[in-house]
Amino acid sequence: MNTHGSDPNPTGAAGLLLVLSGPSGVGKTTITRVIRERLPEAVFSISATTRPKTSGEAQGVDYFFLTEDEFKRRIEQDAFLEHAQYAGHWYGTLRDQVQRAMNAGKLIMLDIDVQGARQVRERMPEMLGVFIMPPGEDELLERLRHRRREDEAAIQKRFAQAKREIAEAKQAGLYDALIVNDDLDRAVGEVMGLIEARRAQR
Ligand code: 5GP
Repeated sequence: MNTHGSDPNPTGAAGLLLVLSGPSGVGKTTITRVIRERLPEAVFSISATTRPKTSGEAQGVDYFFLTEDEFKRRIEQDAFLEHAQYAGHWYGTLRDQVQRAMNAGKLIMLDIDVQGARQVRERMPEMLGVFIMPPGEDELLERLRHRRREDEAAIQKRFAQAKREIAEAKQAGLYDALIVNDDLDRAVGEVMGLIEARRAQR
């Protein structure tokens, strides 16, 4: 079994699309970073967004930060595999990034919301979908505040959005698994287990 992914294209087949969703502050970014450390063939899809860049972020690294006009132009060009509005801003996955990675036999990871995951499921039903859950609502609010990225009103908006999203994810039957991130190693282990199981099916 190729647990550590030393082979860049373990199956010799097309790549694997991993969609990770979950409320902001739940630790998705950390999970994708750890997976990338463990699996050299793992790449991260850099989304486009109209939301303002925060101080720790870089253009083209965390996101492609676009103006509304630029974003709309890309919608018209059909450049997005999916796009959605989240907390008042646009976010979208660039189709060519996903296609290139899939063709190269990579594991491509998308950190996108429930609306986006639904669109991807329709277009690429073979996706592996995982929803990351906070251990509880109190912990989630704590984590959102701890990031010190936003004012209290914005935090409350994200918190309300997160609660709606969790309820939706549970109902939708959209995800292959819901994983509680109360322990990073265990959560990563569970995602890695799903990746291996999916590869073994091929
Ligand atoms: P944040 O502003 O915290 O970086 O992201 C807010 C939310 O937007 C998160 O739930 C994240 O998963 C989602 N998101 C980020 N990129 C995309 C994307 O390309 N498409 C969709 N649909 N959601 C995204």
